[in-house]
Amino acid sequence: MSYDDTNIFAKILRGEIPCHRVYEDADTLAFMDVMPQSKGHLLVIPKAPSRNILDADPAVLAKVMPIVQKLAVAAKDAFDADGITVTQFNEPAAGQTVYHLHFHIIPRYEGAALKPHTGAMEDHGVLAALAEQVKAAL
Ligand code: AMP
Repeated sequence: MSYDDTNIFAKILRGEIPCHRVYEDADTLAFMDVMPQSKGHLLVIPKAPSRNILDADPAVLAKVMPIVQKLAVAAKDAFDADGITVTQFNEPAAGQTVYHLHFHIIPRYEGAALKPHTGAMEDHGVLAALAEQVKAAL
């Protein structure tokens, strides 16, 4: 399968649809997941197009991984989380639903189970406030 630039993250990168942005540099964008599995769930994406890790340029991975780490630390601080789960799915059989490479950063709280993947949509006011908390922690 090849990259299809009509996917929703490509639209976010082109500014065609909004997102709750927490971080951006020349190569990377991070924003709140609209269907969070826990409080503070966010996504980190490279700007370069690839479907997932299987077709990504290693040079792109080398740039995005330090940002995944940076956002994991910021999310842990911002939400006083007990841990952070990082996930990344490749192709439908593995649970991928948006075909632009992305890393999930999911804050974990002792004793709290994760909500379902692509479950309920969060209120935009709540997401905006959470994004501000991450930005403040960066
Ligand atoms: P995956 O299943 O790994 O491909 O994850 C896609 C993620 O994107 C899911 O967690 C969705 O909740 C999230 N998502 C889908 N549309 C949007 C959007 N417009 N803004 C932010 N997150 C989104």
